[in-house]
Amino acid sequence: MHEVLIIGGGPAGLTAGMYCRMRKMTVLVVDAGRVGGQLVSLYGDKPVHDWPGYHRIIANELASHFVRHAEELEVEIVGNRKVMDLARRDEGFELVAQDVVTREEHRYPAQSVIVAIGGGSFEPRKLKVPGEDGLTEDALTYRMPDRSRVAGKRVVVVGGGDSGLESAQAAHEAGAKVTLIQVLERFTGMESNIDLVNQMEIPRHFNTRVRAIEVDDGSIRAVMAQTKGAPEPLRLECDYLVVNIGAAVNLDAVKRWGIEVEGNLIKVDGHMRTSVEGIFACGDIVTYEGKYKLLLTASSEGCVAANSAYLFVRKPQRLTMGELYT
Ligand SMILES: Cc1cc2nc3c(=O)[nH]c(=O)nc-3n(C[C@H](O)[C@H](O)[C@H](O)COP(=O)(O)OP(=O)(O)OC[C@H]3O[C@@H](n4cnc5c(N)ncnc54)[C@H](O)[C@@H]3O)c2cc1C
Repeated sequence: MHEVLIIGGGPAGLTAGMYCRMRKMTVLVVDAGRVGGQLVSLYGDKPVHDWPGYHRIIANELASHFVRHAEELEVEIVGNRKVMDLARRDEGFELVAQDVVTREEHRYPAQSVIVAIGGGSFEPRKLKVPGEDGLTEDALTYRMPDRSRVAGKRVVVVGGGDSGLESAQAAHEAGAKVTLIQVLERFTGMESNIDLVNQMEIPRHFNTRVRAIEVDDGSIRAVMAQTKGAPEPLRLECDYLVVNIGAAVNLDAVKRWGIEVEGNLIKVDGHMRTSVEGIFACGDIVTYEGKYKLLLTASSEGCVAANSAYLFVRKPQRLTMGELYT
């Protein structure tokens, strides 16, 4: 039995794992996909500018530093295992995970649990328009596009939040001819992202909603859209479509585990304790007053959650940080 079992191997879960090992606890991180979280699954090619110590680091590289650091501290890590269930047992908890490839079931007993599932088992929001279903990643993505797939192509990016703006920048930098479509009358991303797409002079259509995708034999030909108040629909020729209009989080499993949630997030206190004793949470999945969804806060909360799990499992007479400094 592990002293701590961490669900999710993104920045929050991996940092929690490292801190558990700094406290010499036995710890296992279980991830539903590739370890590294959103850094690898959503924006691997994007530069990150707000990780202290690096004024610019590509997301995939930052993720590999995280993983290597955790491995060097002997955090046990398994990928491609999605945690489906969590039950209370006399001596702690039991997690049930399913291998996403073989569908084989694995059970893990643990004395405490840290939930670090980020966006959770989230489903990207779809356009729900004719032509969308059945398109593969060769024609459409709901993530940030791979540079190799968009280089030299006509790319339409739907969504004017940070994800859409960053996808537009990445595609532009890869040599694509990019057009942005935003349903609102302005972009909703950060100023710095808006400035960049302005500097790149990326054409954009505000107040515009996609109505259909023209598809021929699995390839996209054009995107049909309607701008509010315009007499005629818009036809944008397109080889590759990027849809970044958010994600619908599915927290059904977490609710089944008896953990109190607020909207689509887990409520925690300043110690990253959830409403269930022995279960802690950290990263994008949690909410508390003043929460920011960032790499740095995810990691910081991972550290706090690990120390709270240590207090819960080991019950030391007092918690000091001094032993971590040497
Ligand atoms: C396009 C984009 C760009 C961004 N750029 C920046 C940036 O420049 N700087 C910055 O600070 N932040 C940025 N962010 C935000 C940052 O990536 C997140 O705040 C951070 O990844 C949160 O870390 P996390 O560990 O909480 O979650 P995640 O990174 O989402 O990791 C969660 C992990 O849990 C796993 N998981 C989920 N469900 C299960 C399950 N049931 N069983 C097992 N595993 C599961 C997932 O596979 C995933 O690996 C960006 C986000 C996006 C979308």
